[in-house]
Order: sequence, then C-alpha cells, then structure tokens
Amino acid sequence: MLTGPALTRFRKNLLAWFSQFQRDLPWRRLKNPYRIWLSEIMLQQTRVAAAISYYERFLERFPDVRALAEAPQEEVLRLWSGLGYYSRARNLHKAAQQIVALHHGVFPATEAEALAFPGIGKYTAAAILSIAYGQKLAVLDGNVARVLARLQAIRGDLRAGKRWQELQKTAEALLAPSAPGDWNQAVMELGAILCTPKSPQCLLCPVNEFCQARKLGLADTIPEKRKKRATVELQLAAAVLLDPQGHTLLLPPPRPQAGPAHKADVGAIVSRMWHFPTIEVHRNAALDLRAYLRESLLRGHKFSVALEPLPKIRHTVTYRSITLQPFRINLKKLPQLAGAKVLPLSELSCVPISNLTRKIARAALDS
Ligand code: SF4
Repeated sequence: MLTGPALTRFRKNLLAWFSQFQRDLPWRRLKNPYRIWLSEIMLQQTRVAAAISYYERFLERFPDVRALAEAPQEEVLRLWSGLGYYSRARNLHKAAQQIVALHHGVFPATEAEALAFPGIGKYTAAAILSIAYGQKLAVLDGNVARVLARLQAIRGDLRAGKRWQELQKTAEALLAPSAPGDWNQAVMELGAILCTPKSPQCLLCPVNEFCQARKLGLADTIPEKRKKRATVELQLAAAVLLDPQGHTLLLPPPRPQAGPAHKADVGAIVSRMWHFPTIEVHRNAALDLRAYLRESLLRGHKFSVALEPLPKIRHTVTYRSITLQPFRINLKKLPQLAGAKVLPLSELSCVPISNLTRKIARAALDS
C-alpha cells in the first residue's frame, strides 16, 4: 500500500493524466447529480459508445428528475428500449418518484439516503455522490478492481473471499481527498483506456512506476478469469399475427401473477416488455405454437390458417442462448384480447419492446 510522498506522487500523476486525456463524454460536462446518476445506471451493462445516444435522447425527453418522475412507466421503457436490462429503467423511474416525494426533487447527498433507492448500490452511490457533491467515497467495480489488483499484483478471483473487501479498503486509501470525484473518474478512465482487460498499455500508463504486476510481468494474467455460469439453451417459437392492413398483435409485459391463460407464454423469460406471443418449444415449433394459439389466444376462432416459418433468430440474454423460430400467420381479423395491443408491424417502436421483439419484427418485415 502506498503512503507518504509515493502516494502523493501517485495521485498527482493519475489526476494530471486524467485532466489531460479524459474522453469528452456528455455526462462529464455538468456536475448535475441527475445526469450523473442516469449515466451511471446506463453504463452498468452498456458500453459508453452505445449509451451516448440513449443518454441524450432520454435527457431530451426527461431533462430533470421531476420530468422523469411524472412520466408514465411505459414511456420511460420506450426510451430505454434496445438498451436491455430493463429493471434498470423501472428502478430509475421508481427512484425518481421517491426523490420527488421525499427529497423535493433533489438527489440526496448522503450515502445512506442514496442506497435506499432501488437500483443504487455501493458503487453507484459512491460514483454519484463523489462526482456531484465531492463526497469522499471510493468507487469499486470490476473495472476499478482490475486496476487495483494489477497495481498490487493480487491474484485469484477478485470477487472471492475477502479479496473484494480488501480492494475496497485499497480504493479508499488511495482516494484523493481533495478531488474525490475526479479521482474516481480517473481510476475508471485508466481501466477503460489503458489498463484494459486484454493487453494493457503499460508504457503509456501514468502510474506504471508504482505497478507491481508490471514489475513482475503479470499485467496480462491479472485478474484471473472468473468461471462463467453455464449457458442454458432455449428453443422458442413466436407468432407474428398479421391482418390484411399489416397490423399485428403484441401481448403486454407479463406480470408475475399472470393467470393460466398466459402460462405457456414465455415473454417474461425474454423481457418484461411488449412482445409477440411466444412459447418455449418442447417437441416441434409449429405444432407447439399451433396448440398454444388454439388453446389460448385464438380459442373459439376457426383455426386452419397456415404458419409460415420466417428465418430463425439467435439471441442471447445473460446466460440464456435463445434460438427462436418466428412464424407469420395471416388472419382476416386479429383476435380481440383484453390488454393486448394491435398496431402496425412497421411501427412497433411506439411501445417499449425488447431487442428480440425488434429482431422478430424485422424478420417479418423483410420477408
Ligand atoms: S502499468 Fe499496466 S497493468 Fe499497471 S496499472 Fe498501468 S496499465 Fe495497468
């Protein structure tokens, strides 16, 4: 652990590098807690380049926490549509309502209050409060942990045992008390630009003289790879019901208490968004889907229509590897179902839909 003049030089080098080489990112332009919070939530599972356009669009529609709190959840999800991990958007929306109700629309400045909001953990609270309010809280996520582990040549699984707690202590000890927000961003930036997971650029690193992994030739092998959760293969089939005007039918985001009529529908596995009628395939995609439609959605309808297979779709959601067979089903009239939406196939993005639903719609439109 660095102390005294070495620690001072270490901090000075990294802060000077950050001030000169940091990327110009939209959320860095203003020290506004709402904007910083939004960017931190978006960046939890999304790369910077992909998040920027969503961030800008989201802010255009919801420029402050009150605008977000007052919006219907469906609209929030629609603007999140395509970013994935939609619980982030639901939690953001709920937290915005709590900030308005309990804190007069101002993001609170203490860690305990920030941690009480849904979707905000220790890392996110430290990032928002240090950058927006200068609170002396050190961030630690996988990116920062990699940098700290290399600096100290810590081997093994960084999340295992007490290692994570020790890394948290290291992050706190290194934090520059005069500029905690810049410091946290500087460590994150180092991890994003130079101390990357593969092939770290140690020659350009502003703190390479302090790095144990570099001295020992271990920079490329720290941290050790974590064991991945085994992939689960999932076979699905989806129905694109179409009427002669090009309208289709989407089912609502599934609720946990959904009744038996939706039991076969696996929209919840894929996402809690508007979706095409979708089932898990157990025997044969066309036969299973036909049985499902006959028993639930098209009950009472004369059911002799053809299921036209569209090109198969591959999709991955966390550990699930999905192969989905979509079918186009032309009907004279779409069934009228409580809670379902009927809308033009080419205009599905006016409601919140997942990337998988978008891929299915594209396959149907292309055909
Ligand atoms: S010297 Fe290399 S491994 Fe060490 S912190 Fe810098 S980039 Fe990372």
